[in-house]
Amino acid sequence: MGENYFIMARRKLLLLALLVLAFAATITVYNATKPKPQSVIYIQPLGEVSPEYLTFLQQSVHRFYGYQCVVKPAVPLTPHLLAASQTRYEASKILQQFNSPQNLLLVTTQDIAHRKSAAQPEYGIFGLGYRPGTTCVVSTFRLHRKVSRAKCLERLEKVALHEIGHNLGLPHCTHDKHCMMQAAQGTIKQVDLEKVWFCEVCRGKFN
Ligand SMILES: [Zn+2]
Ligand SMILES: [Zn+2]
Repeated sequence: MGENYFIMARRKLLLLALLVLAFAATITVYNATKPKPQSVIYIQPLGEVSPEYLTFLQQSVHRFYGYQCVVKPAVPLTPHLLAASQTRYEASKILQQFNSPQNLLLVTTQDIAHRKSAAQPEYGIFGLGYRPGTTCVVSTFRLHRKVSRAKCLERLEKVALHEIGHNLGLPHCTHDKHCMMQAAQGTIKQVDLEKVWFCEVCRGKFN
């Protein structure tokens, strides 16, 4: 009986150790990506954006980076921010217009594009952010085609955390295909492949 008891106690200890390790691993992921505790990021809707999206972004940015997230009243996107075709907005013009000394996440439901090359002057994108900097923009326009609301929110979260990562100085990742700092290259498949997670190499760049 003494031996059985010993084995059971050992199993319990092992289980406890595993639980503690799993918990510690979770904490490490979040801590490593927190820039400065008590920092504030403002979330600025550009035009009408569903409160559901804004609240969701507020929660996910806080959870991942530890920022206090403050949603600002919406301001309109003006025609001079349109790209040459006048059919979508030029993301770099939006960044220039709203570039702020405070951390700022701009959110729009309108299509945004960026000049990729002479052949692709209006390349549709999910988001754009200064690196390093304080200001980034995300668009829900290309995130919700043929998918559920939940899937769209999951994509929005990853795109926003990616762009804030650029603001914090992170370049694109080439180390792990599941890392959120991978370049999306305009394909939603890459975003869907990612986890809400930064690989070890990217996390190391915060230190
Ligand atoms: Zn990027
Ligand atoms: Zn990475």
